[in-house]
Amino acid sequence: MATRIEFHRHGGPEVLQAIDFTPADPAENEIQVENKAIGLNYIDTYIRNGLYPPPALPSGLGTEAAGVVSRVGRGVTHIKAGDRVVYAQSALGAYSSVHNVPADKAAILPAAISFEQAAASFLKGLTVFYLLRKTYEIQPDEPFLFHAAAGGVGLIACQWAKALGAKLIGTVGSAQKAQRALDAGAWQVINYREESIAERVKAITGGKKVRVVYDSVGKDTWEASLDCLQRRGLMVSFGNASGPVTGVNLGILNQKGSLYVTRPSLQGYVTNRDELTEASNELFSLIASGVIKVEVPESQKFALQDARRAHETLESRQTQGSSLLIPS
Ligand code: NDP
Repeated sequence: MATRIEFHRHGGPEVLQAIDFTPADPAENEIQVENKAIGLNYIDTYIRNGLYPPPALPSGLGTEAAGVVSRVGRGVTHIKAGDRVVYAQSALGAYSSVHNVPADKAAILPAAISFEQAAASFLKGLTVFYLLRKTYEIQPDEPFLFHAAAGGVGLIACQWAKALGAKLIGTVGSAQKAQRALDAGAWQVINYREESIAERVKAITGGKKVRVVYDSVGKDTWEASLDCLQRRGLMVSFGNASGPVTGVNLGILNQKGSLYVTRPSLQGYVTNRDELTEASNELFSLIASGVIKVEVPESQKFALQDARRAHETLESRQTQGSSLLIPS
């Protein structure tokens, strides 16, 4: 018997429930993974509340975990039973003690990286890889704005930016989070509950503003983010923590300086095994060498059955860095 989290209707964290089930055999080109640590991602809350509806209800949740391969389906040649793996972008259902996953979504884990480090950094680290290296190629010494810099994606972005020699200006929601982002390598921080983002960015950059803004907060920061951009700058809107950006009049891009906007997602950048290998090799080498540190505080490790409390904590903006679900 295995345990997984399901929800039968959209709603708040209370719709999540633990169910016992018998795992199906892995299908062709799938592996079966005994999950040791499961990544908690903000996108899981959008799926649960219906902003990104799942294909059908009832539904499983979660797309990222690390564990040991117990069985492989026909056609799988590059992964075998007993391998330590991490995966992201699986079909919904990674909030489970056992999950069947397309083999092409998994990477073999270097011995130097623990299951917890892997599950805390894979989806988020692949995201930072494509944002800073592909969507816009951040240059050494280049100042840029990155929202929610003390979050899961954010703390990895701070460390990656520092490794690139770039100057990440991070927004955060508290003084403690400001310190955490600075410790992780942010160049400057702005507490956006107390300060005007655009005014501070102007002051920090000596009036020049920035060429690129990475915004995962969405609705609440959309307009301020545009005000931080130089003429013909790029707005990268990649999340909706405060709600989605809707009803935009494109004329605003003209008014604010002939700006560009993109709304990217990991699925658009890491789409096949070659792209996964390129991104994961770069991420793993930064983690294994200690350039990117992934430490999850005990208070942000939740039992799998406690997924409801994990969601409540994430959505109440109490967390710093990544959070995990741990199957018993
Ligand atoms: P985080 O750990 O960053 O948690 C979200 C953070 O957003 C909060 O801690 C909070 O930080 C900030 N926030 C600002 N406004 C709100 C609000 N109204 N309600 C709740 N939180 C708010 O989550 P993740 O690291 O999992 O993800 C970060 C973002 O990146 C999410 O928006 C997610 O959807 C997006 N994402 C996008 C991907 C893509 O490919 N497009 C892939 C992965 C993630 P503070 O208190 O400092 O404001």
